[in-house]
Amino acid sequence: MTKNILITGGSRGIGLGIAIALAKMGCALAINGRRSAKEVQKTIEDLREYGNKVVYCQGDIASPQDRDNIISETIKALGQIDVLVNNAGVAPEKRLDLLGTTPESYDRVMETNLKGPFFLTQKIANHMIANPQNPEGIKGCIINISSVSANMASPERSEYCLSKAGIAMMTKLFAVRLGEHHIPVFEVRPGIIETDMTSGVIKKYQDLIQQGLTLQPRLGQPEDVGKAVAALVEGKFPYGTGQVLMVDGGLHIPRF
Ligand code: NDP
Repeated sequence: MTKNILITGGSRGIGLGIAIALAKMGCALAINGRRSAKEVQKTIEDLREYGNKVVYCQGDIASPQDRDNIISETIKALGQIDVLVNNAGVAPEKRLDLLGTTPESYDRVMETNLKGPFFLTQKIANHMIANPQNPEGIKGCIINISSVSANMASPERSEYCLSKAGIAMMTKLFAVRLGEHHIPVFEVRPGIIETDMTSGVIKKYQDLIQQGLTLQPRLGQPEDVGKAVAALVEGKFPYGTGQVLMVDGGLHIPRF
């Protein structure tokens, strides 16, 4: 069964890892991002090589108008949205100590990482409820990409940690509200994944991994997250709404 999937921030990094895994599964994809269609043309063409419909919906998820456009363009191209993957996110432009975090950075991170996904999910949840398409079983779901920062405190990027803790609660809230509509909601919580977002601090992380930070002694890759999301989309957790899937090589396990 072809599933129609909207992935925010799906043209690079973790989002692209997810897009590749889902394209391989035969899903039709709407890829969102801020860059122009021209800038991501090659990536979109590569995704089409898997044989399924792939469209690009340019837009800033922090903007209400853009969110509406992203949804209407996706529905126009794919017919309906079965699965939403809330992946797009930003790190603070500058890592600042908690005692010096600025309101500007706080707002920028929160608008993109939490407020945008919250209202995008609200609209798409209403669309999913209005378009139930599979009375025999669950077809759609909502997947939120959070971070180990939802639970691990980094005072030099407090606004990011707060936004991801918010995503963890957002997952629970929508899971509670959408249970009766047979729409499972999941959280995927990556650890340290090698992408543009971590490129500036990758050496530091590699050293920490060598010293034992993660139980599996390597950096995570976008495809590690892609495989976890694919398992959820495939319906491998049919009775698991609200589940948090760790994709962090064991980073979160407290040790003594
Ligand atoms: P990247 O910086 O590599 O990519 C971010 C993606 O999000 C890009 O596609 C970008 O679009 C898109 N994006 C950013 N802001 C917006 C916006 N306002 N509207 C629409 N799209 C936007 O990040 P990662 O791939 O590393 O991260 C993806 C997600 O995973 C984020 O939510 C991040 O917090 C989370 N995460 C990352 C971890 C890591 O170690 N890398 C660990 C844990 C969680 P464009 O390409 O057009 O700029």
